[in-house]
Amino acid sequence: MTSPVRMPAERGFFGSFGGRYVPEVLIPALEELENAFNDAVADKVFNGALNTVLADYSGRPTPLTTAMRFAGARTSFVLELKREDLNHTGAHKINNTLGQVMLAARMGKERIIAETGAGQHGVATATAAALFGLPCAVFMGVEDIARQALNVERMRLLGAEVIPVESGAGTLKDAVNEAMRDWVRNVADTFYVLGSAVGPHPYPVMVRHFQSVIGIEAKKQFLEKHGQLPDVVVACVGGGSNAAGIFYAFLDDPVRLAGIEAGGTGDGPGRHGSSLGLGSPGIFHGSLSYILQDDDGQIVTAHSISAGLDYPGVGPEHSSWMTSRRVEYFRVRDESALAATSAFTRDEGILPALETAHAIAWIGESAADLAGRKILLCLSGRGDKDMEILISRGAQV
Ligand SMILES: *Cc1c(COP(=O)(O)O)cnc(C)c1O
Repeated sequence: MTSPVRMPAERGFFGSFGGRYVPEVLIPALEELENAFNDAVADKVFNGALNTVLADYSGRPTPLTTAMRFAGARTSFVLELKREDLNHTGAHKINNTLGQVMLAARMGKERIIAETGAGQHGVATATAAALFGLPCAVFMGVEDIARQALNVERMRLLGAEVIPVESGAGTLKDAVNEAMRDWVRNVADTFYVLGSAVGPHPYPVMVRHFQSVIGIEAKKQFLEKHGQLPDVVVACVGGGSNAAGIFYAFLDDPVRLAGIEAGGTGDGPGRHGSSLGLGSPGIFHGSLSYILQDDDGQIVTAHSISAGLDYPGVGPEHSSWMTSRRVEYFRVRDESALAATSAFTRDEGILPALETAHAIAWIGESAADLAGRKILLCLSGRGDKDMEILISRGAQV
């Protein structure tokens, strides 16, 4: 289930993106982490144990489901769904948190910390920490705590301490800053589980590696079912972990790769989460990548109807894939994602996460272009978590 890890060049650069732009005190910790990660992925025992947990606890391999009705799938194109929604806790995030928490245990770390926005990564981290019996603290902005009471209670039930972050706007980017500050103070015994393919090296490569199981499984399943590779692979892009995880297996193949960002309510500042499509290169959360910033280099707030795409940055490897044109990136607005959620749920009997619905909407909108093609979609998560938004927006569910 594991593939060779393609490391970025010296000091964690993917082309001109990535790196390690952090306070001096964190450099030794990142080096320790890099060494431990390289050591672990080369170790059969670690890989075997991780694969067992992914299988027995999370339910991997997740199935590949043929979409039968969506957008006339039966006649106009073939659409295969990689069912990450069927993972334990309902999304791909658990692939990464199980990997990182097992690495923490191997390193002898005694405490887990994480940041969370809407709470999905916090729940996935608290779940993995519970499984391995490690105490866990999750930093969460006060705004997000107020909006996401259910996930806050889930984390507490799982034994995690939820630490309110009052600084800044009290949202995800402030929670990341606070988690980094905690890590600086407690670096000897604490492991920071980062939630997407972002941050300073080695996080982007480590998170992509733990998510690469998605693409490795899907490629094999697709070949078995269709006797050929997909023509197009599609995934939504927030920080970029599920997309990197499914794209990675196809990088060297003649396969079109499409990443879909949050178009929000429009292209103006503060209205979207399209770091690649509408941002510019800058340094944010420890690495150089495309980010949403103003003329002074200050971060501009992102917006998306889906919490998972509501982030003003993106993993550096995606920036390199965009500039080298290996991956195409598009953006889809809130309204289209909402409409796609309703249509897809009725057609397929699967309620997708609002994040995933952006990728589904793009496929629907590109139907003419995709006629006759075989498409593989990363169905990154289930939409039960979004019911309140769907109800308040009057979606037909
Ligand atoms: C968090 C999340 C995302 C976005 O994160 P990536 O790192 O870009 O994958 C997408 N889909 C679901 C269901 C999520 O929970």
